[in-house]
Amino acid sequence: MPHLVRENLFIGNITDAAEILINGSTTVTHILSVLSSASISFFSEWKKSLTIPTKEIKKVYAGGSGGASASEDDSGDKLLCLLEYAGKDLKLVRMGVPIRDMESANLLDYLEVCLDFIDESRKEGSVLVHCFAGVSRSAAIITAYLMRTEHLSQEDALKSLRLSCEHVCPNDGFLNQLKMYEEMGFKVDHASSIYKSFRLKILGESYYRGDKIDSSKFGADPGLPSEVTSEVESPPNEGKYGTSAFRCKKCRRLVAVQDNVVDHIPGQGETSFEWRKRKSSNFNNFEDSECSSIFVEPLKWMTAVEEGGIEGKLSCAHCEARLGNFNWSGIQCSCGSWITPAFQLHRSRVDISSV
Ligand SMILES: [Zn+2]
Ligand SMILES: [Zn+2]
Repeated sequence: MPHLVRENLFIGNITDAAEILINGSTTVTHILSVLSSASISFFSEWKKSLTIPTKEIKKVYAGGSGGASASEDDSGDKLLCLLEYAGKDLKLVRMGVPIRDMESANLLDYLEVCLDFIDESRKEGSVLVHCFAGVSRSAAIITAYLMRTEHLSQEDALKSLRLSCEHVCPNDGFLNQLKMYEEMGFKVDHASSIYKSFRLKILGESYYRGDKIDSSKFGADPGLPSEVTSEVESPPNEGKYGTSAFRCKKCRRLVAVQDNVVDHIPGQGETSFEWRKRKSSNFNNFEDSECSSIFVEPLKWMTAVEEGGIEGKLSCAHCEARLGNFNWSGIQCSCGSWITPAFQLHRSRVDISSV
């Protein structure tokens, strides 16, 4: 049986969802399915006898899987969600979102589409949020929803959800991401260093799994005028990160902009996934720090990275001057911080100016 969490909001498992999809419901009008596949075929793979009629409304793809700025090529795009009419007489609206229940799974990128769907559904009727067991994925989504709508911390939101459904238990990777969501102010802020570090960590895990790392996963090259237009995708983030440009000292080619920088806390240890202390409002202090390195997200001009080695040199795409290094297992900055994985520009090899 689905558990009522808030007015017009239920949590459940795949059995609850199947029951409603087959027999209809007097209360539930919308279903959010968070399973390893967005497709309704997951249900018939789960139980051979199930055939659930559907009619597609739309599919939504992520605007590029690269860094903060969206890439234009479709190849790297991933499915965010599938929206369809489903069930008896096609009366239900179902949204399928593909997320695996693994600690390394990316939850953050799907959060907003899920939470917006829950919001809309509750205005029109009642929504069931379900995953396979009703324990981890659906609970993580609803925890985020309570955080956003009621401005609760991750801990308080989960505690509140457990009052309705005591066995819920999002996996540790999801809990970590919900913490980041809280630190980003209940939104997924692609310009924040929390998000950029997170994306970098996911890319690093993908590298170590043996996935092919090609430039479709990299941020746009700010040195190419055609690609700069895609910067529009990432909102100009209220100027809080400044607008520095980093140019090759030798030939003045633009190699990075402030948006590409993944800031670290000087002197801290492993920072790639541990953003606890710093709030984005103090980022400006960074300009004057003593760090010898500037760490950035991987960018499309870093062709050496595509060769697949664990480490290598980063050279200017125009004059081939040495600008820095990359290393998937990390590089230590002069301040003592380890950045993992690291795409590093030596401060001494670039000129920093305002755009
Ligand atoms: Zn440093
Ligand atoms: Zn150069």
